[in-house]
Amino acid sequence: MDKVLVTGATGFIGLHCVEQLLRGGYEVRGTVRTESRGAEVVGAMELANVDSSKLEIVCADLLKDDGWSEAIDGCRYVLHVASPFVLEVPKDENELIRPAVEGTLRVLKACVGTAVEKVVLTSSFAAVGYGHDDKTLFSEADWSDPEQCSPYPKSKTLAEQAAWAFMTELPEAERFELTVLNPVAVTGPMLSDDIGTSNDLLLQLASGVMPACPKIHMGFVDVRDVAKAHVLAMTDAQTNGERIILSENEMFFAGMGKVLQQAGFAKAPTRELPNFLVKVVALFNSQLEGVVPFLGRKSDIDKSKAKRHFAWTFVSAEQSALETVKQLQTMGRL
Ligand code: NAP
Repeated sequence: MDKVLVTGATGFIGLHCVEQLLRGGYEVRGTVRTESRGAEVVGAMELANVDSSKLEIVCADLLKDDGWSEAIDGCRYVLHVASPFVLEVPKDENELIRPAVEGTLRVLKACVGTAVEKVVLTSSFAAVGYGHDDKTLFSEADWSDPEQCSPYPKSKTLAEQAAWAFMTELPEAERFELTVLNPVAVTGPMLSDDIGTSNDLLLQLASGVMPACPKIHMGFVDVRDVAKAHVLAMTDAQTNGERIILSENEMFFAGMGKVLQQAGFAKAPTRELPNFLVKVVALFNSQLEGVVPFLGRKSDIDKSKAKRHFAWTFVSAEQSALETVKQLQTMGRL
């Protein structure tokens, strides 16, 4: 059976990719940064009742060359999922940009001259919809302007651009295929205790830590659909050379608050904060700093391309959020 490398196997999305690949009968090699975290990945598979006998864990850091050739050796496909994902704005933007850009190039370079036929790169809507002043409807033709972005979207934009540039320059004899997926905020079941950055947003909403919602409009997609899209894109030649946005639906935060409140999460806010107040608080809160450009603006997404390639019905944003907060409750986080 074909072997697949999944980078960032400890992560929220990475774990779901590993799970779906193992269930699909693939041999999986997952990368972790430190050997001790390997047991977490194996443990997560056992908890999910997945046979982990075809799972191998190797160490590789996006900032170092060591280990990547060995990680890729013998793999037919690579899902490059790893990249630092934090909402806080770091003091030095290179904490996010270097691993994102250098790591992507490191993985792609290590694939040259090997058995790898295709790489699926996890980019983000952050590489699509940031830094546009008045635009409210986005498609795969759009690119974030890295000069107008906070560090995370900048890291994702520069990494994706570097990947496409690398592929364009690759000599014909060394070619392999690339598909890029651009998910919006990913929610849904967690396979480990690490709830991840995007589900933390739902935790903040459901726990009432956010007393009222910033007027932010964003897309939501379930992690199971994101992983399924990665696995399908891996073998589907129709997706070669494509970037594809993954979003089930877009809504204002207050709309999501209402969904949670109606399901019994009484602390979830449904009122909206005035934009000026968010701007003031953002001066002292680096999580909010990144969202200021989006205040009061819609970000709708043209989903036609994803529907063409991934024709199943995605888990609804509402159902995904509710499953997430119920799991957070079971985990004692709510
Ligand atoms: P996550 O849970 O934080 O996973 C990130 C993964 O990247 C972890 O396995 C992490 O390893 C690994 N990583 C970070 N820095 C690394 C480095 N220097 N070397 C090696 N590995 C490194 O985040 P996620 O939500 O699953 O995100 C996975 C991917 O999806 C990222 O590329 C992210 O940009 C993209 N994405 C996420 C969302 C979302 O809403 N979740 C939306 C769009 C795109 P450690 O466990 O060792 O830290």
